[in-house]
Amino acid sequence: MLPASLDEAVAALAAMPTAVPVAGGTDLMAAVNSGLLRPAGLVGLGRISEIRGWQYADGHALLGAGLTHARMGRPDFAALIPALAAAARAAGPPQIRNAGTLGGNIASAAPTGDALPVLAALEASVVLTGPNGSREVPVSHLLTGMDPLRPGELLAFVRAPLLHAPQVFLKATARTGPGRAMASVALVLDPARRGVRCAVGAVAPMPLRPLEAEQWVASLIDWDGARTLDPRVCTAFGDYVAMACIPDPVGDPADPAGQDAGALPPAVAHLRRTVAALARRALGRALS
Ligand SMILES: Cc1cc2nc3c(=O)[nH]c(=O)nc-3n(C[C@H](O)[C@H](O)[C@H](O)COP(=O)(O)OP(=O)(O)OC[C@H]3O[C@@H](n4cnc5c(N)ncnc54)[C@H](O)[C@@H]3O)c2cc1C
Repeated sequence: MLPASLDEAVAALAAMPTAVPVAGGTDLMAAVNSGLLRPAGLVGLGRISEIRGWQYADGHALLGAGLTHARMGRPDFAALIPALAAAARAAGPPQIRNAGTLGGNIASAAPTGDALPVLAALEASVVLTGPNGSREVPVSHLLTGMDPLRPGELLAFVRAPLLHAPQVFLKATARTGPGRAMASVALVLDPARRGVRCAVGAVAPMPLRPLEAEQWVASLIDWDGARTLDPRVCTAFGDYVAMACIPDPVGDPADPAGQDAGALPPAVAHLRRTVAALARRALGRALS
């Protein structure tokens, strides 16, 4: 079924509640092909033009869920929300970026979804539309399951603030070339609120916000002046973020006296170093 509007798509899902929406199909068809999913029917969202672009609304951009990574990576979009454009450019190989969508990235809610830390740092919200009308929820509530998609609902738009200030997305992969994130960091400056907001992706089921580290570093920035920081502060910020997001593993119950204390498992130590480096670089770039 290929509806031409959101209303038609919602009606199609209401008529066939066992059907599943499909946008670019990059995640969904992989699940079908591997036998993990056997949907009774599909409702294709690819012909719905109203969700393939964006519009402006009160200092925000209303981004259609059908925007592809390739479209978001283009310069006009990068001028609007640079970190989301950087995440889109980093999302997989070209064939994935040409088909995969913003809405699919959010609905899949994979820990490695590159758009997710950016949306968390932006404190974006999503507009969901379903048989009972539309409602808006913070992206973080959707991702934590506090306010999940309800049966028959579609993700229609993402409301993202236009901050007119530097923002950065950086990603580390386990291999060279395009790949899923081992860790990612999104960092945005919000001069109007004198805030630094940061989210770390891929290290937990959903993006993590190191709130104390954000507040600490924001308090050190001269928001009315040069907005520069001593490189040592950037390094300390990276360490603060990494410690907040990658806690020490829970101790071994078989070793209650903590004989192994202080010996961080190599994989955890490596991840912490990676996150620290990404956060340090992201802050340095945002302030440079
Ligand atoms: C080889 C490969 C590499 C990849 N690399 C990356 C990467 O580096 N970074 C990254 O972030 N992702 C990556 N992905 C994952 C994927 O491409 C993205 O998550 C993509 O954004 C999914 O979008 P889609 O439109 O293809 O979603 P689909 O596959 O169409 O749908 C995914 C899920 O979302 C639901 N859905 C889709 N749209 C809506 C909507 N509007 N409302 C409600 N539900 C909806 C579907 O029902 C389905 O459950 C990769 C995938 C592959 C196969």
